[in-house]
Amino acid sequence: CGIVGYAGENSAASVIIESLKKLEYRGYDSAGITVLGSGLDTYKSVGKIVNLEAVLPKGIGGNLGIGHTRWATHGRPSTENAHPHNSGNPCKISVVHNGIIENYMALKEKLTAEGYEFKSETDTEVIAHLLHKHIYEKPNGTEAKCELLTGLREALKEIEGSYALAILCADEPDKLVLARKDSPLVIGLGKGENFAASDVTAFLNSTRDVIFVDDFDTAILTPSSVEIFDREGNVKEKKIEKIEWD
Ligand code: GLU
Repeated sequence: CGIVGYAGENSAASVIIESLKKLEYRGYDSAGITVLGSGLDTYKSVGKIVNLEAVLPKGIGGNLGIGHTRWATHGRPSTENAHPHNSGNPCKISVVHNGIIENYMALKEKLTAEGYEFKSETDTEVIAHLLHKHIYEKPNGTEAKCELLTGLREALKEIEGSYALAILCADEPDKLVLARKDSPLVIGLGKGENFAASDVTAFLNSTRDVIFVDDFDTAILTPSSVEIFDREGNVKEKKIEKIEWD
């Protein structure tokens, strides 16, 4: 129901927990977070954000992260079905998603036949494995690697439905990537830190300079930069707006 992302100098887990609390009003049944430390570490729980806080290790490090409050559409509310959803062992890709993937059944069957193991009943998990496939596999089965954003653009061509996505890749630990179609997504520009969320209220305490992401756009967020790309992958001019209301 709500996604958040953070890249900056502060503890990603602390920032994301506070942001998720700001999105609680949207309603949710479970929540989760992935932080990028030495690898991708994911924590999830059913119920309130305080339950999620309770399963986070004390003093958890990492300056990049993604978080989610889930309102289940496909698969019951449970820890396994809570986001983020991951692919790879050890984890290479971690995804949070707001929206619905309409053709997830066909994709799930195809990916399962190709050897991907599904851990949840959600529509979202296909995105994680599809991304893994596009980034790490060549058609003839040899291991290859393309960039996260390139892989994402390819994966999105196969996906039908609505999405706001925030994604981390273990092999590109300097960034998080975003994508949007028919679900809200906004970027917050800070000093030495940048934010992403379904709703500006998630980061309004930190910045009022925002970029509303358009349908079919993708974006790369690092602590010091924000880049927006159109459907073909061309860099777009950034339309920065100031939020004046309280
Ligand atoms: N369709 C996804 C799920 O059921 C995302 C739901 C949401 O937007 O919270 O897991």
